[in-house]
Amino acid sequence: MQEFDYDLFVIGAGSGGVRAARIAASHGARVAIAEEYRVGGTCVIRGCVPKKILVYASRFADDFEDAAGFGWSLERPKFDWPTLIAAKDNELARLEGAYRATLDKFHVELVMERATVSGPNEVKLAQSGRIVSAKIILIATGGRPNIDPKLPGIEHVITSNEAFHLKEMPRRVVIAGGGYIAVEFASIFNGLGADVTLIYRGGKILRGFDEDLRDALTAAMTKRGIRIVASQVFTKIEKTGGGLVGYSTTGEALTADAIMFAIGRSPNTAGLGLEAAGVKLDGEGAVVVDGASQSSVPSIYAVGDVTNRVNLTPVAIREGHAFADTVFGNKHWSVDYSTIPTAVFATPEIGTVGFTEHEARAQFGEVDIYKGSFRPMKAILAGRDERMLMKLIVERKSDRVVGVHVFGPDAAEIVQMAAIALRMGATKADFDQTMALHPSAGEELVTLREKWVAPGEAAG
Ligand code: FAD
Repeated sequence: MQEFDYDLFVIGAGSGGVRAARIAASHGARVAIAEEYRVGGTCVIRGCVPKKILVYASRFADDFEDAAGFGWSLERPKFDWPTLIAAKDNELARLEGAYRATLDKFHVELVMERATVSGPNEVKLAQSGRIVSAKIILIATGGRPNIDPKLPGIEHVITSNEAFHLKEMPRRVVIAGGGYIAVEFASIFNGLGADVTLIYRGGKILRGFDEDLRDALTAAMTKRGIRIVASQVFTKIEKTGGGLVGYSTTGEALTADAIMFAIGRSPNTAGLGLEAAGVKLDGEGAVVVDGASQSSVPSIYAVGDVTNRVNLTPVAIREGHAFADTVFGNKHWSVDYSTIPTAVFATPEIGTVGFTEHEARAQFGEVDIYKGSFRPMKAILAGRDERMLMKLIVERKSDRVVGVHVFGPDAAEIVQMAAIALRMGATKADFDQTMALHPSAGEELVTLREKWVAPGEAAG
């Protein structure tokens, strides 16, 4: 039998790579993992975690405002961006340390340099020039933010990567994009007091989400002072004495201290040597894999965003875990992609799981819709004129709940729990028979009784 330096060499110490490395090692494999930037990957270093910290920071503005309705009087609160960024960086350093400690505990060798594939069983380390062999190679290199490289003035823009490290809080921000990262950053900067404009190619933000949620968030963001410029893109960006100026398709000049692009992400495969090694990539550069995360080269696997399946941390982690158990632990399982809950941490936030109304109608034909819209209890005394929205989508034939969509405070927390019910195949009758927890917002999900009837449609 051929001898290799390692049983497994992982490229990329992010969500998927670290999980795969440590599980494979726990099964007795000799594992190394290469990382070119920081251990923890996008989620920990420049994604979910720092973003949620900024989201928390931005929401204190509402809390200060709302407190007055409950008898509190506060001096005018002041916000200091460098203090927030330093606190965030401390927390990231702590988390990175925890990731390193885990790898260490499982005797995974950490190689802090860029790695590329130089053959089906060979990895080249860029800095040291070392070539190592491995029985199995796992590509877990994640994704990177897209920009429009041909746009004049593109050198002046930032992406989410840089947004976390700005020296000063920009007072005027223009964000290009309408996906979840774009709207989250719009809410962050809005909450922290900036003047925010979102410019978006499509007609409506959050493509792929339920229409009611898209409309509700658009209305709430607009009411909070975020300007949404739909069906427009930038034609050029200029740096002037008064700041950056982005020109839209209609010729409107949008002036800002920072212009951020959040127009999607692409798999990180450029220059990785995959095609030369025979690994098939799709049109967007993602590694093509089968249900077991195996590429067209049997010794090379890939998990996480680099495969462009569902680009979320828990999915990458689970793919890495399934891969390691299957290949090194003789425990064969694969990831179930059917009910993945997801959130948009805008303010107010969105939590969603299962089919949108549109998808459910296409998939099941006859569906029943239950909707409730109400002012959350806290908002009433606070004098905050914002409503929560809850929506259940039920397959009429089986009575199964196939979609839960929540818009408003704590939507993500509520939907995480609802996802368990959905996965178990809960019916609307199960929801109805579940005792309400009072007073809560979540109780609305088990007390929705009236079917919503679309104009012109007869109730089933
Ligand atoms: P990554 O975590 O991206 O890790 C890849 C690693 O590989 C990186 O550390 C990179 O430096 C390294 N690397 C790349 N090439 C090489 C090479 N050649 N050699 C060595 N190292 C290399 N997901 C959620 O679930 N919830 C959220 O709220 C959420 N928010 C997000 C917010 C933002 C702003 C962004 C950008 C992403 C967010 N995501 C969120 C997505 C989430 O971060 C990713 O889905 C997840 O990190 C994917 O994990 P991964 O293991 O595939 O790759």
